[in-house]
Amino acid sequence: MSKKVEADKRNPKKFQYEFFGPIGAAIIVVLTTTVVFGLYFGCNENGCPAHPQKILSMIQNAKFIDVYSFQLYLCWLGALILAWHFLPGEWVKGVPIDEKGTRLQYKMNGFATISLVLGIASGFIYMKGPECMELIWSRFLPLMTSAYVVSILISFYCYISSFIGQKHLAEGGNSGNLLYDWFIGRLLNPRIGNFDIKVFSELRPGLILWIVFDIAFACRQYVMLNGRITDSMVLVLVFHSWYVLDSFVCESAVLTTMDVTTDGFGYMLCFGDLVWVPFTYGLQARYLSYYPVDLGVGFTTAIIFLQLLGYYIFRGSNSQKNEFRNNPTDPSVKNLKYIQTKRGTRLLIDGWWGKSRHMNYFGDWLMAWAWCLPVGFGSAIPYFYVAYFAVLLLHRYGRDDHKCREKYGDDWKKYCQVVKYRIIPYIY
Ligand code: NDP
Repeated sequence: MSKKVEADKRNPKKFQYEFFGPIGAAIIVVLTTTVVFGLYFGCNENGCPAHPQKILSMIQNAKFIDVYSFQLYLCWLGALILAWHFLPGEWVKGVPIDEKGTRLQYKMNGFATISLVLGIASGFIYMKGPECMELIWSRFLPLMTSAYVVSILISFYCYISSFIGQKHLAEGGNSGNLLYDWFIGRLLNPRIGNFDIKVFSELRPGLILWIVFDIAFACRQYVMLNGRITDSMVLVLVFHSWYVLDSFVCESAVLTTMDVTTDGFGYMLCFGDLVWVPFTYGLQARYLSYYPVDLGVGFTTAIIFLQLLGYYIFRGSNSQKNEFRNNPTDPSVKNLKYIQTKRGTRLLIDGWWGKSRHMNYFGDWLMAWAWCLPVGFGSAIPYFYVAYFAVLLLHRYGRDDHKCREKYGDDWKKYCQVVKYRIIPYIY
């Protein structure tokens, strides 16, 4: 068999575009870039929304990037890579990536890494005072541009290196259209030695930086309010940190997500991990550092209740599926009803997974509300996360449904007849 035929067999081309193909990809690149920079210029100390004239003069006088911030960002990435290398961690196998059952290994030491980062940040704040975090809050824009440049460079590196040697490509990233494949990602597992660029990027540089920014903006509020932070800021900080720490406690769960098992690593994931998450997810903390809100006991209690409910559903449903798939004889799942599919896997139709097809999305979305409500009702812009997340989850639902329909055929139809609601029981 010729090398080309062998490569085509290993990496079949997929002609079904997602995101409306190359034109959609170009629009998303422009749109997402506009949103991250737009949120910075549109919501700040000049107003949220800031007056268009103020936005214009801010853009004209802005220092988008400087050498020091770029170096700072590179040091940040370098330090995280060193932490990945030197901190102890278990090596865990991912899902099989080919018919031979090849499974790549991943080092799981993200929790140790975030603990180290938070330890160092706390030490600095304790010794030098909250003012020392000005280094970070005042460089939000140049750091964002630095992360943006790095994400573009990495996505080009991954695209170009996908043509060198015999690489395993993502099924959806091998269309042959340069723009689309660069956007969606050709390489399924971009690696340098045993360092996996995708799994590293998924959790570390973005998620940890998000919390570091939250802490920096809490410090900013502390300085602006002459030595206090509001209950709303505490809620935002605790909820965000909780979510991120939870991801690191369950770090190996990332290996079975669609991002890791199916999607290539291109601009979309790289930009999402390095820029979108750290520079937009913490918008509520940034807003509160300019416009403090005191919630009071009643409102605080109601928001905590919403967060707990969301988390209960989110963690309960995700863990139930994980347990059912990996340890089906466990007493917590062994009596749950399921459909046995022709492919061999089982689909739960009981417990959380009997209430809707994605109760985990519903729980996650409830938590999104709990993160935004602390900003009060002075501006709609900090609610951006709730709206964006709804779009993301609906789109993700569609992609997953399509994948399962193709994969399970009639069994999926049967499953959808039994579990009628898509995400929110009795509503959607
Ligand atoms: P799921 O964890 O819901 O996984 C979907 C897969 O689970 C399906 O493809 C199918 O895979 C399997 N499955 C579907 N139905 C059943 C069933 N009834 N019984 C058993 N297995 C089933 O999806 P995601 O990976 O999208 O999401 C995981 C979590 O991450 C969610 O809680 C989501 O909210 C969160 N998330 C958060 C994001 C953020 O930015 N904060 C972004 C994206 C996700 P199989 O082929 O194995 O059958």
